[in-house]
Amino acid sequence: MRSNQFRRGTLAVLLSTVLFSMSVASLSAQQEPSSVDPELIADLVAANHILVAEGVLDGYGHVSVRHNRNPSHFFLASSLAPQLVTANDILEFDLDSTPVESTTRALYSERFIHSEIYKVRPDVKAIVHNHSPSVIPFGVSSVPLKALYHMAAFIGEGLPVFDIRNAGGLTDMLVRNSELAAALARSLGNQGAVLMRGHGAAVVGSSLPVVVGRSVYLEINARLQAQAMTIGGTITYLHPEEARKATDLDDYKRAWDLWKRKVVKK
Ligand code: MN
Repeated sequence: MRSNQFRRGTLAVLLSTVLFSMSVASLSAQQEPSSVDPELIADLVAANHILVAEGVLDGYGHVSVRHNRNPSHFFLASSLAPQLVTANDILEFDLDSTPVESTTRALYSERFIHSEIYKVRPDVKAIVHNHSPSVIPFGVSSVPLKALYHMAAFIGEGLPVFDIRNAGGLTDMLVRNSELAAALARSLGNQGAVLMRGHGAAVVGSSLPVVVGRSVYLEINARLQAQAMTIGGTITYLHPEEARKATDLDDYKRAWDLWKRKVVKK
């Protein structure tokens, strides 16, 4: 009898605790003005997988997206190979690259690339840092990468090259703090990408489809330019006016829809 009463009492406490947690959860959901669009997180996960499928990222590199409601926050995965990233691995960061909620997860050491660019480029909504293989030679050679064809028109008259040696002396080559990342963001200026000498590139865009499209076609443009140079003769690159007109046109929407369909499991 006594133990029945005890059980009933315990149940009542448990029930009220559950009800309270539910009401707090719904209250905080209502009061949270910067709730994230789940579609944005799904697209960020897809972007990780697309960039691997298209040969831009391998076990390294990362892609982020600015918060849809709070422009001083962005989303980036915890330190994982991009192919392994799921929605549960996406963390929210402030512009000091500190996670908004404390976490025990390992973080990308080069996450400062994202925060420092978001700080100075309000037009940028998504960023890729990669070690895109065909782009690397143009970061170490005196031969500049140029817009060879319309799909990579955003390259324009050429892209800046960031040499970490000028910013930090002889480092381990990684952009591991906000000072080095701020120097990288200064090199980027108002361009669509910056090459990183002996390392890779940082690519920016007004959306995930744009930054993914730019990253994919930057890699292809580099490969095609090397091929054109091997053929020899004179190479005709896009005229700056052609590049400008073609950049205004391309949001990579059709390619994005295709790429996303290929990586999203039914
Ligand atoms: Mn890197």
